[in-house]
Amino acid sequence: MNDDGSIALKTGYRQKLWPDVSARDWADYRWQLANRLHGAADLSRLLGLGGSEFQPFERCISKYRWAVTPYYLSLIEEENLLSDPIGRQFIPDPREITVKSQLSSADPLHEHNYSPVKGLIHRYRDRALILAWPSCSCYCRHCNRKRTWKQPESVPAKKEAWRAIFHYIKEHTEIREILLSGGDPLLMPLDRLESILKKLKDIKNVKVLRIGTRLPVVLPMAITHKLCRMLSRYRPLWLNTHFNHPREITHQARQACERLQEAGIPVSNQSVLLKGINDDISIMKDLCCRLQEIMVRPYYLFHCDFVQGTDHFRTKIQKGIDIIDKMWGHTGGMCIPNYVVDLPAGLGKARVMPPHMAKLSESMALFKTFEGKTVKLLFR
Ligand SMILES: *Cc1c(COP(=O)(O)O)cnc(C)c1O
Ligand code: SF4
Repeated sequence: MNDDGSIALKTGYRQKLWPDVSARDWADYRWQLANRLHGAADLSRLLGLGGSEFQPFERCISKYRWAVTPYYLSLIEEENLLSDPIGRQFIPDPREITVKSQLSSADPLHEHNYSPVKGLIHRYRDRALILAWPSCSCYCRHCNRKRTWKQPESVPAKKEAWRAIFHYIKEHTEIREILLSGGDPLLMPLDRLESILKKLKDIKNVKVLRIGTRLPVVLPMAITHKLCRMLSRYRPLWLNTHFNHPREITHQARQACERLQEAGIPVSNQSVLLKGINDDISIMKDLCCRLQEIMVRPYYLFHCDFVQGTDHFRTKIQKGIDIIDKMWGHTGGMCIPNYVVDLPAGLGKARVMPPHMAKLSESMALFKTFEGKTVKLLFR
C-alpha cells in the first residue's frame, strides 16, 4: 500500500526506470521519444536476461526492430512482462522467428503489387493508402507491415516521390479518399504533414482524408492542441487509432481522443484479435464498451493477418465470430466492430459477421435471435 492508501503496482516501471523524471517531462512527447527503450542493451536490461538466455531475443530484434515509449511501458502491471497483455504487444518474442505457418508470408496483402508509384497502395477503386512515414514510436509485434521496418526506403522520402504520388491521385479521379498510414504518419514533422494535407486537399477528386495512427494509445501526449488545430483545417478528416486492450484506455489516452474530437475530428478504432491478449469475450466487450464511453467508435476487429512473424498471435477465425456473436444484442450496436479478415494474395477485406438469418427464400426467412431462438417469418 502507498501512503495515500492506494495499492502499489507490483512493478511500477515509471518509478523503477525513471524515478526522477518530473511530471512535466513525463507529459512531454519529446521527452517520451528521446527516452524510448530500444536496441539490444535496453531489452536485455529490461528482461533481466543475458548471455545464451538473451540470444533468441537478440536474433529476433536483428530481424524485427523493437522500441517502446516510457509511457506505454508504464502501463504494464504484471510481474511477468512476457505475459502482460500490453507487454506482449511490444516485447520481442523469439516465436516471431521460430513459429512459421505455411499460410504466412512477409506481404500477404500483396501491397507491393498494388503500388503503382512508390509509397502509394491503390487496392480499392475509390480510396488509396499512402505509406507516409517509415517509423513508429513503439513497434507492435503483431504489425502487418513488419516487413517494412528495416526498409524505410519503401516510403516516399524525397520531394519527387511525393510529387509522383500527388500526380497519380490527380490522374485517377476515381480516388475520393486518401488514407495516410505508415509507420505512424503523426510522427512526421508538423509543417511537413501540413504541406502534404494541403496538397491532398487541393486535389479536386479528394473528398475525404483519413489518418491511421497509434499515438493516442502509445504516446497520447503527442496529440497536442497544436496538432489538433492544424488537423482541424483539413476536415473532413477521420482518424483511426488502434486500441487492443481496455487497460490502454487511460486518462491520458482519453484526453488525447478528446482533444481530437474537440477539434472536430471523429476517432474510430481498429483492433487486432490477438491470442492471449484480447481473444476473450469479457476483455473484448470491456474494450469496446469503454471505447464507446470515450466516444471512439469500434470500426474494425481484424483477424490477425497472415504475416510472417505474427503466427503465434493468430487465433482461429471461429474465435472472432464467437466473440461478436456473444456481444450482439447484449451490448449496443455502437460498441460492435465489424470482424474482418484481410484475405491473402491481396484479395481484399472480407467481413465475417455471425449470420442471424439462416435461410431466405421467396416465401420465408429463418432467423436465429440473439438469445438463440429460431424464428420463421412467412411472407405469404
Ligand atoms: C484497409 C485498406 C483500405 C481502407 O479500407 P476501408 O474498408 O475503407 O477501411 C484502403 N486501402 C488499403 C490498401 C487497405 O488495406
Ligand atoms: S503503430 Fe501501426 S504501423 Fe506502427 S508498428 Fe504498430 S501496428 Fe505497425
